[in-house]
Formats: sequence, C-alpha cells, structure tokens
Amino acid sequence: MKKKILLLTTGGTIASVPGGQGLEPHRSQVMERELEQLRTYYDIAVRDVMCLDSSNIRPQEWQLIAGSIFDNREGYDGIVVSHGTDTMAYTASAVTFMLPDIDLPVVFTGSQLPLADMLSDGPDNLRTAFAMAASGYPGVFLAFDRKVMLGCRAVKVRASGFSAFESVNARYAAQVSNRGLVVDSTVLPRRTGEARLCPKLSENVFLLKLTPGLNPAVFDMLAAMGYKGIVIEAFGLGGVNVLHKGLRGIRRAVEDGISVVVTTQCLYDSANLEIYQVGAKLLELGVIQGRDMTSEAAMTKLMWALGQGLEPEGIAELFARNLAGEITP
Ligand code: ASP
Repeated sequence: MKKKILLLTTGGTIASVPGGQGLEPHRSQVMERELEQLRTYYDIAVRDVMCLDSSNIRPQEWQLIAGSIFDNREGYDGIVVSHGTDTMAYTASAVTFMLPDIDLPVVFTGSQLPLADMLSDGPDNLRTAFAMAASGYPGVFLAFDRKVMLGCRAVKVRASGFSAFESVNARYAAQVSNRGLVVDSTVLPRRTGEARLCPKLSENVFLLKLTPGLNPAVFDMLAAMGYKGIVIEAFGLGGVNVLHKGLRGIRRAVEDGISVVVTTQCLYDSANLEIYQVGAKLLELGVIQGRDMTSEAAMTKLMWALGQGLEPEGIAELFARNLAGEITP
C-alpha cells in the first residue's frame, strides 16, 4: 500500500514563477507536474497554507503552519512542508518547539531554482523530503540536497549554492546513498509523551551580534522597547567585552528580568562560559548558556519559552534541557 503523505505549501522559490519584478511564489498548481510523478510512489494530498516569499514569514505564520500540521495530521503517514529557503531554518526550529512529541515525520523542504526551471533542484529535494516523510520516524526535519537534518539544527549556509543547508553541531538524521534513504537513528528525537500543539510565542526576543566596542547602552534601549529576551552571539567560546563598562548593560538587563542567552557567532562548536574569566563573569550575572545551539534554535526556543509564560528561572532550567535535539547534552 502506498504511504499517505500530506503536502502543505507555503510558497518560496520552489513554487515561484517569473513575474514583473522577479520571482513570485504561486500556489500548488506550479508543483503539479512534479507531484504527478511522485504519485507513482505515494498517495499525496495537497493543502495550500499560504503563498509567501519566506522573507515575509513571521511568527504568526509559524503558528499557522504548526497548527495546520497538528490539525491535519490524522490519517497521514507523514507531512512535507514546502517553504522558501531564506527563513526555513527559523520556521523549522520554531515548529519543532511548538509541536512537542510530534507523532509523525514532518519534513520541510524548498529549492534554490524554481520547479518551473528544467534544471531545478526542487524535484530532488521533494523526493528526499517525501522519502523521509514516509520513513515512519517522527520529528521535525529539513531535507535538502539529499540530506535530512533536524529542523532545530538546520542553518542556511549558502545564498545560491544547491547545498544550501547544513546540520550544525549534529550529524545528519538521514542521507540518500546507493542504499536509498539511510537513517541515523542515534540522531532522531525521542518522544516522551502524547503529541501536543503549544503555539504560543513571545515576539519580544532580540538577536544581537556582538561587535568589538559595542555601546552597552544598546541593552538599556532593548529593555525600554519591552524586550523580554536577548540572544547574544558572543565571540568564540562565549567571550564578551567585560572591560570599559561592557558588562553594565547586560547586568541591568538581567536585573530587569530579561532572559539573556549567550551563544557563539562561530558557526561550529559550542559556547562554554566556564573556560575564560570573561565568560565566568557572565555566569555570575545570571546569563544562560546557549551551548551548541544554532542562533535560530536559541532565538526560537527563547520566544517559545517566554510564550509558555515561564519566568527567568524556568527559562534557565529549560535551556539546560535538550527538548528535541537542539543541544548536545
Ligand atoms: N526568497 C526565497 C524564499 O525564501 C528564497 C528561496 O526560497 O530559495 O522564499
């Protein structure tokens, strides 16, 4: 029997055609020719959730996507979500946290060249995504260039190259080889309960890339603007300028009840505030270690944690826990 797969479309290059001012996303008709071929292998249903360039996707749209996955999953073996590549890592991370213990495979994919182009990478990406969606392994994944990664580990690393996504600080969940789709079961998230939809998010989270000599008043400004969470992409292992009043702003932010998470602006490896004195000073202030999370995962986990109504202590406790593979315990 063919596996039943639901395709939720949201727009992006994969569904784009040339318009007056460049590529514009269109609804699922653009994908029909490709889906016809995939119907040989799968029983496919399609729902258009939205039709946007992913640069225009906001937290409201993440909620709509998470809700569409949760509400429509009954009767399907897996779900594929087609999405623009530009913000797909954010959406896949956010949806991971909004759907704890999801009970079927949910696989995001897109393409760098529209399906309408004969040389598009879309057919390949869709095939990998459908194979993962039919694999029976629950979780939120992103499939691209014959690789499948956890949604909360994906980062877009190339603006135009076909190998656009990498699984940062985690092995791939699956790869296509001459043996077909080979799944690495050690990477898969573990379910601990019933699938839930927890869509509430706070939008009051700011991602700040530290630069040498940054004016610490920026933290006062963020507090005044009502931000409740700040993710700092610090230097290297988590270094922050602690001289020249550098810590003043962070101290005040923490005292004001803002949750401050420190990650690294290096793409690979982990921030570790326990190694240098500059890091230890941050820990004394009560900042939270982002460890080896991607900035996308740290940002969306903090938005989600605040959305659940957690206080700073609860948020610190949540960040010490691995929820879906986003940190290496
Ligand atoms: N701008 C497009 C988007 O993110 C890029 C893509 O899909 O590759 O919607």
